[in-house]
Parts: sequence; structure tokens; C-alpha cells
Amino acid sequence: MEIHENFSLKHYNTFSIDAKARFFNEFSSKEELEEYLMFYAEYPIFILGGGSNILFTEDYSGAVLKNSIKGIELQHEDSDYVYVKVGAGENWHEFVLHCINHNWAGVENLSLIPGNVGASPIQNIGAYGVELDEVFWSLEALHIGERRIHTFTPVDCEFGYRDSVFKNRYKNDFAILSVTFQLKKRPVFHTSYGAITEELEKMGVKELSIKAISQAVINIRSSKLPDPKTIPNAGSFFKNPEVPAEKYEELRSKFQDIVAYPLAKGTVKLAAGWLIEQCGPPEAVTWKGYRKGDAGCHAKQALVLVNYGNAEGEEIYDLSEKILLSVNEKFGVMLEREVNIV
Ligand SMILES: Cc1cc2nc3c(=O)[nH]c(=O)nc-3n(C[C@H](O)[C@H](O)[C@H](O)COP(=O)(O)OP(=O)(O)OC[C@H]3O[C@@H](n4cnc5c(N)ncnc54)[C@H](O)[C@@H]3O)c2cc1C
Repeated sequence: MEIHENFSLKHYNTFSIDAKARFFNEFSSKEELEEYLMFYAEYPIFILGGGSNILFTEDYSGAVLKNSIKGIELQHEDSDYVYVKVGAGENWHEFVLHCINHNWAGVENLSLIPGNVGASPIQNIGAYGVELDEVFWSLEALHIGERRIHTFTPVDCEFGYRDSVFKNRYKNDFAILSVTFQLKKRPVFHTSYGAITEELEKMGVKELSIKAISQAVINIRSSKLPDPKTIPNAGSFFKNPEVPAEKYEELRSKFQDIVAYPLAKGTVKLAAGWLIEQCGPPEAVTWKGYRKGDAGCHAKQALVLVNYGNAEGEEIYDLSEKILLSVNEKFGVMLEREVNIV
């Protein structure tokens, strides 16, 4: 067994933070993971996927174990659905492309989300009007302390908006080994969200297909979101806050152009990016485009914090704290971080 000690995680997180793991290993099977868990029994364990939703603010004093379990397997099918079991270490977007090639519908709107399949249920990934829980069937995970396999159904996962039981009660307790998806044989198209319809028109699409929707989403995302390979980041740093209708009305009376989406349950989701744009540090009018050292708030997407080079995780975290406080001061709304702070 090769042991990597004092291992730089710079190339293993999309923020490109040069934090060190006391130990680092990669596993490609449950058995290999079990060996590492025995070997590192006295240390804290952190399971890593693609590193696209993490901010390391300090070195990790335990073992970082990167999940590289592969495999995409059609388990069974009925008249309406296919049930597909996927190794947690498969790249999410490659899995989406695999589904499109096989005409399995349901994940096309989630094209180009970075990271691995194993992390997808953790924050119930979502984009362009679709969330993972709409296609999730079950997952298998190893309890790190007990070393026993558990199967989670959708109810067990307690999915919410960018949320699940794995971000709360079971935070860092489980290593997800595989996820099984229930995908449609006959697609139901979701085109009303964002600029999908416009993009499809621009592409000259005459007949709607999951392939066309996927390509439209890819085009929109590529033009809007900063590529972590060019400017390291972890996507949206904050969640869009949900407020009671009365709070929204109070805000709207003061800020007529506030960007918000009413939810079916009667609450209102506010666009965190808009809130952030309206606030700023003492030396600037807005956080949007703000930069201190190598830590910054992206010039086109205020929701995305970026590392312009050699920012420390702490610097990015401090910037996020300042943004949070200024938004709370101006609007009385406390933003919540979407990115996992380690
Ligand atoms: C440019 C950009 C755009 C993005 N756009 C979106 C978007 O549109 N929608 C969206 O929802 N997200 C988005 N994200 C966030 C991110 O891509 C997702 O949250 C993704 O699911 C994270 O996967 P990962 O494998 O990189 O997880 P990591 O960052 O490696 O890990 C995230 C958390 O999950 C845990 N974890 C990872 N794998 C496992 C496992 N197998 N078992 C147990 N725990 C595990 C880690 O311990 C950590 O706590 C974006 C990120 C970037 C950089």
C-alpha cells in the first residue's frame, strides 16, 4: 500500500487551494476503501469526489480518500423506466452524456455540472429547472465508523434545495459507493427555465430531443459560468435564500427591482446574486467584480467567488463572511453557504 503523506490538494479541488492532507489515497472498490479505513482507523476521514463543491480553509489533519469507483450498469427496466446503477467515482457529465447516447431521459438539464456521481445526492444537485431527486432511485453507502453498508431510498435522503441528510445529520458519516437512477424511456422536456428556449431557437432545433436540450444547457453554461480551469471557483458559493411572503413584500416596497421567484408553498426565493450585487465593501459600490489579493467575487456572476491565483482558503472564506454580513445588514436576510467548508 502506497501512502501519500503531507499531500497537496491543489489539483484536487476546483478552487485550486493548496491545502495539504496529512494522508491521501484513492480507492476504486469498496474493499480498497475498507482497507484504508482500517489502516487510518485513528484519523479523521474525508471522502473526496471531484472537489468542485469544497473550500479547504486549512490543512486536513486526517486521511483524504478520493472515491474513484467506476461502472455504469443497467440493472433492470420496465415499460416506462430504466434503472441504472453508477459507481460514485464516475464523472457526472460523462454519465449524463452516456444517458443521452442511450436515450435515457431525465438528467439532460443537469449537463456540465462538475464533479462526480457520488456527490450528486449530497446537495441534491440542480440546474435549469431539474433537481437530482427527480431521477434518484437509491444509493449504497458505507458507514465509515461502523463499516456497514446502508441502502438509502429517496425518503431516507431527506432531499431539499441543495440539501440532504448527508449535509446535516450524517455529515461525513458515510462514503457513498454507488447511486441508482430511475430514468425515463419517454422523455418529458423541461425547457421553460432560463434561456433554454431561446438557445434552442438559436441552434435552429426543429424537433426537441434530450440531446438538443443537453447541448443548449452546455452552450448556456459555457457562456455564463467561469471555467474553474481558467479561474478557479466552486460555482455558486451561496444558496438563494427563501423568505416568507411578508418579508418579500417588505423588501419589495423598498427595493422595487428585487429579483425573486415565488414558490408553490407560499414562500419566496430571492436571487442571492442580486442581493450581493446591491452591497459592497466600504471602498467599492458592489461586491461584483471586487478583488482583494487573489480572492474575489466574479465580475459577471456575483454568486461565484474566485481564486485569481494563490488565494488561501481562509481569504476566500473571509470574503464570503464579509459578503454575508453586508447582505444581512442591508436586507435583513442571512445567506447560507452552498459550498462545503473544510
Ligand atoms: C463551475 C461550477 C458550476 C457548478 N454548477 C452547479 C450547478 O449548476 N448545480 C449544482 O447543484 N451544483 C453546481 N456546482 C457544484 C458542484 O459541481 C456539485 O455540488 C457537485 O455535485 C460536487 O461534486 P464533487 O464530486 O466535486 O464533490 P466534492 O466537492 O468532492 O465534495 C462535495 C462534498 O461531498 C462529499 N462527497 C463527495 N463524494 C462523496 C462520496 N462518494 N461519499 C460521501 N461523501 C462524498 C465531500 O466530502 C464534500 O463534503 C458547480 C460547481 C462548479 C465549480
